[in-house]
Amino acid sequence: MTILVIAEHENGAVAPATLNTVAAAAKIGGDVHVLVAGQNVGGVAEAAAKIAGVAKVLVADNAAYANFLPENVAPLVAELGKGYSHVLAPATSNGKNVLPRVAALLDVDQISEIISVESADTFKRPIYAGNAIATVQSTAAIKVITVRATGFDAVAAEGGSAAVEAVAAVHDAGKSSFVGEELAKSDRPELTAAKIVVSGGRGMQNGDNFKHLYALADKLGAAVGASRAAVDAGFVPNDMQVGQTGKIVAPQLYIAVGISGAIQHLAGMKDSKVIVAINKDEEAPIFQVADYGLVADLFEAIPELEKLV
Ligand SMILES: Cc1cc2nc3c(=O)[nH]c(=O)nc-3n(C[C@H](O)[C@H](O)[C@H](O)COP(=O)(O)OP(=O)(O)OC[C@H]3O[C@@H](n4cnc5c(N)ncnc54)[C@H](O)[C@@H]3O)c2cc1C
Repeated sequence: MTILVIAEHENGAVAPATLNTVAAAAKIGGDVHVLVAGQNVGGVAEAAAKIAGVAKVLVADNAAYANFLPENVAPLVAELGKGYSHVLAPATSNGKNVLPRVAALLDVDQISEIISVESADTFKRPIYAGNAIATVQSTAAIKVITVRATGFDAVAAEGGSAAVEAVAAVHDAGKSSFVGEELAKSDRPELTAAKIVVSGGRGMQNGDNFKHLYALADKLGAAVGASRAAVDAGFVPNDMQVGQTGKIVAPQLYIAVGISGAIQHLAGMKDSKVIVAINKDEEAPIFQVADYGLVADLFEAIPELEKLV
């Protein structure tokens, strides 16, 4: 049994979700190989070779794979995947863009967003916005799986010494080209990788009031998230949304401020290790999942909290 993990990388570095995906692969058992696809990714491949538990790194370094265009990367993964028992990718935008195409090319079902490995063919995954957990057994010859990073503790980024092998195959479908991207720039940690997340909801009243959360977050070294209501009202951009249709986070500490705790929001944060809720309504459902609850007006509580940090 040999497992192929598709590395997520950005700006020349292995993305943290890759380490969680390697952890899932290690739970399945067998040798773990990592594919690094992209352009000028020699440094990424070297870093991937150091990941604990990785036996081999395959490097597909070609202009066709720059920017991870799924039309080009999917046929590469499908070709390589034929030699593996499992193909895993993190359930990130890239993973979710590429793996369904790989599954279709290999004529197998995809198993999406697993949160635990029961055995080599049986996995657990959330359904109904995380309100039920399905145990899925697959009879597919090659199991194509996306991994929810929050379900697996990351393996160590250092300590391994895998062999690095170049992949010659070039798939350029010629169907798409990369035009550009606009990335939100922030000195705060990335939402899905942050150890502490401070999120604001409709209770923040407007975008300007988020400055209170940014000030607190900067003292805590935290990322700032938001409920969908706050995003839909235009308080903050949608890349800050946490929840069923936003980002899934599981930090050490999640502070929900002026958020009622709708199931769609809980679906994105209820696996956080410690949940703190600040809400002026003591009946708010967020208090049912909170480890610590403060019934208070956030405009008084947040500045006070900031002073204490
Ligand atoms: C298909 C679908 C997908 C969805 N996906 C998501 C998702 O990904 N993420 C998400 O978040 N939602 C999602 N939603 C929306 C979700 O159902 C809720 O509408 C949303 O989460 C509510 O956001 P909120 O808690 O900020 O707002 P509200 O429910 O309006 O809650 C605001 C809270 O702020 C409190 N408050 C107000 N003023 C203060 C104050 N001064 N001090 C303290 N507390 C105060 C209030 O007591 C209240 O509890 C989805 C809905 C659907 C149908």
